[in-house]
Amino acid sequence: MTSFYLTTAIDYSNGEPHLGHAVEKIGADVIARYRRGCGDDVYFLIGMDEHGQKVQKEADKNDSQPQDWVNRIAESFQRVWQRLDISNDDFIRTSENRHHLGVTTLMEKIGEKGDFHRAKYEGYYCAGCEAFKKEDELENGQCPLHLGREIEWTEEENWFFELSKYSAELLELVQTRPDFVRPRSRLNEITRLIESGLEDISASRSRISWGVPFPEDRDHTVYVWFEALASYITALGYPDSELFQKMWPADLQIIGKDITRFHCVYWPAILLAAGVPVPKSVWGHGFINIGGAKLSKSSGTELDLLELIDRHGADALRYFLMREVPWDGDRNFSSVDEFVQQFDRRYTTDLANDLGNLLNRVVSMVSKYRNGMIATVPEGELSNHMKMSLSTYREAMDDYRLHKALIATFDLVGFANSFVDQTKPWTLAKEETKGASSAELDSVLGQLICALGVTAVMLAPFLPDKAAELWGVLGGGEFPPHFDHLSVAMETLGRVEPGSVLFPRPEEI
Ligand SMILES: [Zn+2]
Repeated sequence: MTSFYLTTAIDYSNGEPHLGHAVEKIGADVIARYRRGCGDDVYFLIGMDEHGQKVQKEADKNDSQPQDWVNRIAESFQRVWQRLDISNDDFIRTSENRHHLGVTTLMEKIGEKGDFHRAKYEGYYCAGCEAFKKEDELENGQCPLHLGREIEWTEEENWFFELSKYSAELLELVQTRPDFVRPRSRLNEITRLIESGLEDISASRSRISWGVPFPEDRDHTVYVWFEALASYITALGYPDSELFQKMWPADLQIIGKDITRFHCVYWPAILLAAGVPVPKSVWGHGFINIGGAKLSKSSGTELDLLELIDRHGADALRYFLMREVPWDGDRNFSSVDEFVQQFDRRYTTDLANDLGNLLNRVVSMVSKYRNGMIATVPEGELSNHMKMSLSTYREAMDDYRLHKALIATFDLVGFANSFVDQTKPWTLAKEETKGASSAELDSVLGQLICALGVTAVMLAPFLPDKAAELWGVLGGGEFPPHFDHLSVAMETLGRVEPGSVLFPRPEEI
């Protein structure tokens, strides 16, 4: 069994979860479920980044202890992930002792290598990014990612990590392993960044107490980014647990495109310094923008995730986000209203009408003409189209173009609907009663059941509940079946259960 270790960015504990977080976790969950469907031994990690200046300030502002504050936020995130059916195997929180232990070991290893030195830092610090900013990274004296927010002039004596030492190794990494940073546009950005020359980076902060103590100097805490990145290995029990030996290096680390510098430059350098292998691939996904602005703590609150889930169900929200937001790019909605309208439209058109009607028609015809039982037929016009859609789907999924996999799935649904219109099973049934052969109607209905079954399997990573329900209505056995053994699974289909409505139309709710 091939192991597959998948992580997402750990979310920063300075506010409630919003759609931007949801898109990332759902996409990662789709990949985790798909890999499991391909027989991989998947380990899927998500978590919370709970230290840093902003969290400390947020807790102070709310008259709360940092630990109480992050406990409350972590609960809030976990509640949403449960409602969205995110199938993570672990949830790492950087305030946990297991994380502190792992970070301490990691810092000691880098210290032994002689890659830390003390120096004075003078410059700007954006608490929004929890990052030091150079003058030329600012726009009109502000962080372009956090316009309108205060940027602080900071002077402190810190421990620095000698990132510059790793320039050549990092450049070789991105040049010889183009899959290390994906998609390609992100790789180009990172290559340019490394080529432009790397400066040493802060590894500690002297005035922040909410964090992991810096091993060589207990008056300092480890700089929050340095320590947050380590969560991907501390969660596995770095340095010597069995899980770490088995799962590391990660097969895929999913992050937002705004933090590629940390994950594709700092992170591999930290690992190289500590003598730990670098991840196999980092994927920088795009953003969902509303009214031209990236969703954030301030702009995302208008769209409450739990309310959106209540609107048409968790699976419908998963479908909508994965269909509309390309996994390798951005998706802009002009306003919150447009977002909600598009959600309603996709729900009604794709799920309730196209898929719902197809299921309804097929189940009622199999019930009426064949007493609810028909053998699947893997040959014929529809079945040939089904094989083509499935292969497009798998190619897209293997390449992490998740939206394209859904397009292939609904292309099959659309083709199956027109197949019904063209073959007119009701006419075939009438002819049968007049003595015509039953073979043609058997083939039409058998192909339709087969196409619906394959649709259920294709939808399984995206709509886990509804896909299982669909499979059940078709009389299928264990779900989801292994992607490589679909033909065996298809043989379990055929005793349909009429009367079930997978996606009620809004007026019927
Ligand atoms: Zn910023």
